[in-house]
Amino acid sequence: MAQIVILSDVVSYGELGAGRYIGPYVIASQLEDHGFSTVVVDFFTAKANFFEYLENFIESSTLIVGISSTFLSPSAYFKTGRGRHNSFDSYNSGFLWKDTDQEWLEWSAELKELLRRKAPKAKIVIGGVKAAKFLKRPDLARDVDYFALGAGDSSIVQAASALRDEKEPEIKEIAGLKVFSQMVLKHQMNACPVTTFQKKWAIQQGEALPIEISRGCIFNCKYCYYERKSSLRKSVDILIQEITRNYELFGTNSYSFTDDCFNDSREKVETICGALLKLPFKIDFTTYARVDVGVKFPHTADLMVEAGASSLHWGLESFHPEAARRAGKGTPPEKVKEFLLWFKKQHGHRCFSFGSFITGLPYEPESSVHETIDWLLAHDPLHAVGFGPLTIAPYTESLDQTVVDFADYSRHPEKYGFSRIGGIDDWEHEWMTYKKAAELANFANQQWLSKKESGVFSFTWQYYHLRSLGYTNEDLLGRFQKTELKASLTAEVIGRHKAFIEQYWADLARLNPPHT
Ligand code: SF4
Repeated sequence: MAQIVILSDVVSYGELGAGRYIGPYVIASQLEDHGFSTVVVDFFTAKANFFEYLENFIESSTLIVGISSTFLSPSAYFKTGRGRHNSFDSYNSGFLWKDTDQEWLEWSAELKELLRRKAPKAKIVIGGVKAAKFLKRPDLARDVDYFALGAGDSSIVQAASALRDEKEPEIKEIAGLKVFSQMVLKHQMNACPVTTFQKKWAIQQGEALPIEISRGCIFNCKYCYYERKSSLRKSVDILIQEITRNYELFGTNSYSFTDDCFNDSREKVETICGALLKLPFKIDFTTYARVDVGVKFPHTADLMVEAGASSLHWGLESFHPEAARRAGKGTPPEKVKEFLLWFKKQHGHRCFSFGSFITGLPYEPESSVHETIDWLLAHDPLHAVGFGPLTIAPYTESLDQTVVDFADYSRHPEKYGFSRIGGIDDWEHEWMTYKKAAELANFANQQWLSKKESGVFSFTWQYYHLRSLGYTNEDLLGRFQKTELKASLTAEVIGRHKAFIEQYWADLARLNPPHT
């Protein structure tokens, strides 16, 4: 039973599963700190008889059932029962994790009915990135009471306090929706919040966990809508305390470092990795990285691996010099290529190296993307690659700097050659359209997969979850790379993930019993 119940899931990888997403746990930690008993029901979209299970946690004093929307999309990529195979169509299709509007409305009506019966004062709140989808489709908000747009850290605490006192939370109306008004962006905060994982959240023994390192990013890539140009870093002492606590309570020694760009400066890498190397136990971690600091100071790449980096997601975006430079990736592509080759040769036996690319950046013609994939296939500088089409939100003044830090492309479309930005997947510029960029990304991914197909994963999120499922780093860099094992390993991972979530759901219900 809990006053606040948060539903969370990362759906994209279907039955293969993915690790816990940190957002709901940061918020749950803040709520607990303010005296609200809070439970996160994770992996919720996969739970059979979900509403029956949810009843375990709802009581008459429940104030909020929140839905964390950021990673809710109809599951895709690795084929599921629905037979989806195109991750771009899937991410933007359907509504949240439902295939159709009607399915979502039926689901939300059932949740509303459950609350009417068991917790009449409870409100339904939707937070996370995809909450903004409702601004365009307020008709689908029929059963939703409030929205938390932007970082929910303080707005949810304020809302819970008001609801406990039987008052209306502070809101403002946007598109007819009730949106919490106390949203904060990183520049209004003075510390990166601590996440205090609780035993009652059914953390499994030895489970790999996410941990927030910093919020925001010091760079300013022109397509990026994260908070840019500065970063709020957690104090290294607090970080080490969190890691030590998780190790002592749950045996956790594997992490997803939640950080828009872990290696944004030489000093940061040296400070954090230096502290990790002094721990009395060894950890491994997976995180996002840029090549810039590695190119300038190669010892920082060595240091990250030494400190436990076992999977790095390099945001590469483009090897076209003009497109990369104008997008805010200043390191010349030839140097980037040299670095990737060096890194794989030097550390490829210990650290999985994944590179992501964007198709459709202004100034990059179609032929350049073909050259990039040809070079990748010929030189093999990465364990895996992923191409995705540029997505770009139309600028909306009322949301700027309160809900989202709009990308420079959105703010000044004409400066970058856009003739139209109609929606995140509907733009056009001199060199390409979204449709063409999506086709190109699919083509490039297919080329890679058909020539370099490896085991069952290629992405940071899955990497640390596979550690939770009992695979070692050696497994992931060894047998997972063998194409001939793909079918059997896929079946094995699906089986292990199923067992993992079944155990988790059973533990969560046991650890949060009804009040007698
Ligand atoms: S794309 Fe990555 S490196 Fe660039 S501004 Fe955004 S978070 Fe920072």
